[in-house]
Amino acid sequence: MVVLYFYIGKRRYSDLSDIKKTLRIIASREMELTSNIELDKGLGDIQAELNEMIKKINDDFIYLKKLEQTRREFLGNVSHELKTPIFAIGGYIETLLNGAISDPRVNMHFLQKAYDHTQNLSNLLNDLIDISLIESGQLKMSFRYFNLKNFLAELAEEFNPTISETPIQLVIQPVRKGLQIYGDKTRFRQVMINLLQNAVKYSTEGSIQIIVEENSDDCTIMVKDEGVGIQEDDLSRIFERFYRVDKARSRDVGGTGLGLAIVKHILEAHNSKIEVKSKYGEGSTFFFKLAK
Ligand code: ADP
Repeated sequence: MVVLYFYIGKRRYSDLSDIKKTLRIIASREMELTSNIELDKGLGDIQAELNEMIKKINDDFIYLKKLEQTRREFLGNVSHELKTPIFAIGGYIETLLNGAISDPRVNMHFLQKAYDHTQNLSNLLNDLIDISLIESGQLKMSFRYFNLKNFLAELAEEFNPTISETPIQLVIQPVRKGLQIYGDKTRFRQVMINLLQNAVKYSTEGSIQIIVEENSDDCTIMVKDEGVGIQEDDLSRIFERFYRVDKARSRDVGGTGLGLAIVKHILEAHNSKIEVKSKYGEGSTFFFKLAK
């Protein structure tokens, strides 16, 4: 009897010390819990509860680590993106102050360059504000039905001046007059403007087409260009924040590397998804569905 009590006591002691060890690791928050704990058969319920708790804590731990890593990368990217235009503006102003201001061959050019970089900075800040509002869930959407044909006509009117001095034309393929789609009109406008601006930024000539295909419950909206196109390897990455195929070209044309990430988020809030097909050297088509 005494031996039995002694044996049971020893098992409990070992169980308790396993539990204590696990709790200590949890309290220290320093490492992932690598294994499940195994207790005596009679403590099966407690073992299951503890292992469930360990699994949840592990999942949270991995999630927090990922979040921390993303936050660090994001901060690093933002600082780098801010540095580029600020350094450039500083450089041009310094050169002007050091005498170039009185040299009529370069002074206007340097001023224009400095001004262009302030525009890049302003684009970047606006995109950063948008992306942080969207990602923190603070961007309120206002969904309603609106007429797609009228919307696209207004969009073209607004957009045409930006391409009037380029060999690029915007063509809107026929859309049914009464077609109503359901979404946040202001945010949908932002999606279309971002896609159209990209089509212009990454084309030198040709047409940009907006094509609408009506399906039974929704319609597919496409923005098709005849620009530089995107290689297969880059296709899946262009929707990531700050990912650019050609950094220098993107900056030269005022890109921030955030436009498509914003498009992706806005469409996700519409239960939709942005997709792309592209042939390098021939052009790209960005497309998504919206409910009607
Ligand atoms: P950016 O501000 O650099 O244009 P985006 O997020 O809008 O950033 O796009 C990410 C990258 O995807 C761009 O830098 C460019 O390399 C590529 N890209 C986007 N749209 C097009 C397009 N229509 N044609 C070719 N490349 C494109």
